[in-house]
Order: sequence, then C-alpha cells, then structure tokens
Amino acid sequence: MMEFIQDDLKRLEEQELLRHLRLVNGAQSRVIDIDGKKRLNFCSNNYLGLADEQQIVEAAIEGLRRDGVGSGASRLVCGNMRVHEKLEQAIASLKKKESALLFNSGYAANSGVIPALMERDDIIFSDKLNHASIVDGVILSRAQFKRYPHLDMECLEQELKKASRKCRKMIITDSVFSMDGDVAPLKAIVDLAKQYEAFVYVDEAHGFGVLGEHGGGLVEELGLENDIDISMGTLSKAAGCFGAYVAGDKSLRDYLINHARSFIYTTSMPPAMAQAALAAVQLIADKNQGGIRRAQLRHNAKYLRSGLKAMGFDCMNSTTPIIPILVKDSSRALALSRQLFDQGIYVSAIRPPTVPINGARLRITVMATHTQEDLDILLRAMKEL
Ligand SMILES: *Cc1c(COP(=O)(O)O)cnc(C)c1O
Repeated sequence: MMEFIQDDLKRLEEQELLRHLRLVNGAQSRVIDIDGKKRLNFCSNNYLGLADEQQIVEAAIEGLRRDGVGSGASRLVCGNMRVHEKLEQAIASLKKKESALLFNSGYAANSGVIPALMERDDIIFSDKLNHASIVDGVILSRAQFKRYPHLDMECLEQELKKASRKCRKMIITDSVFSMDGDVAPLKAIVDLAKQYEAFVYVDEAHGFGVLGEHGGGLVEELGLENDIDISMGTLSKAAGCFGAYVAGDKSLRDYLINHARSFIYTTSMPPAMAQAALAAVQLIADKNQGGIRRAQLRHNAKYLRSGLKAMGFDCMNSTTPIIPILVKDSSRALALSRQLFDQGIYVSAIRPPTVPINGARLRITVMATHTQEDLDILLRAMKEL
C-alpha cells in the first residue's frame, strides 16, 4: 500500500537529491568529529562559536540546578518561569523594542505568528527566497501570497499598488538570506510600507548577534528599530542555543499570547535553555565580548570571500558570513563537497528544493572561532578543485 515511499526514495537517489543524516560526536566547534572523522567545520550557523562556550554552558548548568529540566506546561498554564521573562526583557532591550515573546524555535515563531496576524483576504508580500518557515506560516494564514522576485523593489511596489486599500498588508523578509548570504534592502522596504500602509515583519535568524554594533541585527545596523513592526530572530544560530523571539510593541506581545497557536499550544522552553540563551544574549550585547567576536567574524568572512573571488568563484552577492559558491549542477556540487570532505573540510552541498533548480551550490559559513590557518586550509583546497 505504501509503495510510493520506495518509489520516491528511488527517484531522489537517481536525481542525486537523496539526503541522509551524518553523525556528529561531541560538541559543535570549529573542528567536529563527523561520521568518525575529524573535519574543519564550515557549515554551522554557530557564527560566534557560542554553542560550546564555557560561560554559556555554566549558565545552563546553573539553570538546571535551580529550575530543573522540564517546564511542565505551556506559558499560559504554569510554565511561565522567571527566566523566560528575564530573557524576553534582555532581548527587548537589545532590539530596542518595548517587549519580546519567546517561541520554541524560529520555525514555530514564523508558522505561528504570521497566521495570528493575517487572515483570508489579507495580503502578504514575501521575498521569493524567504525561509521555508515563512512560507509555511503564510500558507497556514490562508492570506493571499504575493511572492516578489528576490530583492526586487520595483515588483514589490507594483504589487503593493494593485492591492486593495481595505485589507491588511504585510511585507515579510529575511534580513540575511540563508542560502545566498546577501541582505534585504530594508530601508526601501520600510519606505514602501509607509507609502502603501503595510506593516513590516523581519526575520533576523542570520542577522541577530552577527550584524549591528550590539548584535541587534541588520535592523540595528541600519537604525530602523522604530520602523519594523515585527522583529523576529532565533536563538539557535549566532546565540548558539535554541528557541526564537518576536520583538515589538507591548500590545503585539499581548496579542500573540492570545492568538499565536505555536505559543499557546506548546510546552514552554526548558528553563536551563532560557538561562543559557540569557547568558548568550548578554554576551552578544556586550561591546567587548560580543563586539570582538563580531569583528573577528567580519574579518574572517572578508578574508575568505576575497580569496575565493580572486580564484574566480562565483560567491553571488554575499556580504555576510554565509558565502555560497554557485555550482548550478546538483551532482557536481555533491562531488565537490565530497572532495573537500576527503581533504578534511566539511562544507555542505545545497541542492533543490532548498535552492532553485539549477542553483545548486556549496554553502560555506564562517565562524569567529576559525583561525587564520583554518581559512588558509580551505582556500588551498578550493584552489585545487
Ligand atoms: C534557521 C531559520 C529559521 C528557523 O529557525 P530555527 O530556530 O532553526 O527553527 C527561520 N528563519 C530563517 C531565515 C532561518 O534561517
């Protein structure tokens, strides 16, 4: 009865699109033990190296000893613990917003917040390369879905012009695009939103902790805190922990507590994770600790990107620690990734449907903790490819 499963797996295999899990032994650092082999790690979103930072591990242990393991219930029942609110206040203050609300993942935030705000007959304008969790949130909302070509402000304006004045309009965008490493033209988006009476939702999954003087993301870098209505980000990438936040006005927080299903119908974040994330957010916001790591990260990304470009690789329009190398063909991308792996370097091959057809690529992510030697090893290996 379920032959379709075998058929599908066979098809994926034939098209070189079959994915499988690889096993990591031990902590996430610049060198990981993967499938029993030590490899230089160039595919983690752990940009600042906080996932195994001792200060943060200690905070988690302290949280565990004080508050135990589980949180027992959803926030609205008896799972709203002191550390959740402390973390929310720290995030709100870093994001220069009145308040913030925690979610258990970025996926849960986007798939719950978008349907809470938008309904049938409303219109959502969304960059074509926005993250899958945004797409799923839009679909769940049943609102009209207008996808504009990547970064194309002219098309966005055309669509906004056509929209009815009466319905709610939301423009939603990643700040840093996860597979291309380029950034959204947020100032232009904010201007269009004002002109056409739309609100703006920004997903800073890859911006939070990485961009901005205090790690507040692209929104901080551009000084647009007051112009973004819904500022979402994750605690799972640069913060090295788990979970996500949505920052905005206090009324937004109150509204989401009452309407976001992925907030209401789920057990709250384990308190020790919230304690760890609090330590990570404090480190990120600290000009010394966070600032030094961000400067190192910027330096590493720039060094690697200019080295790769000098060899003639197409790094697309990356300006961040996400550096794609466009290969186009899926099997070629896979072969290159395997070749690098054999030389001690782990860089993932990204294939459709994660990227457009004919858009297969190697996706390098740089960390603040990579050493000069690590970067040179990667550059030497790339030269030989
Ligand atoms: C990773 C990512 C998410 C999902 O966040 P998780 O915390 O991993 O669930 C959402 N949006 C974007 C843009 C992402 O890159």
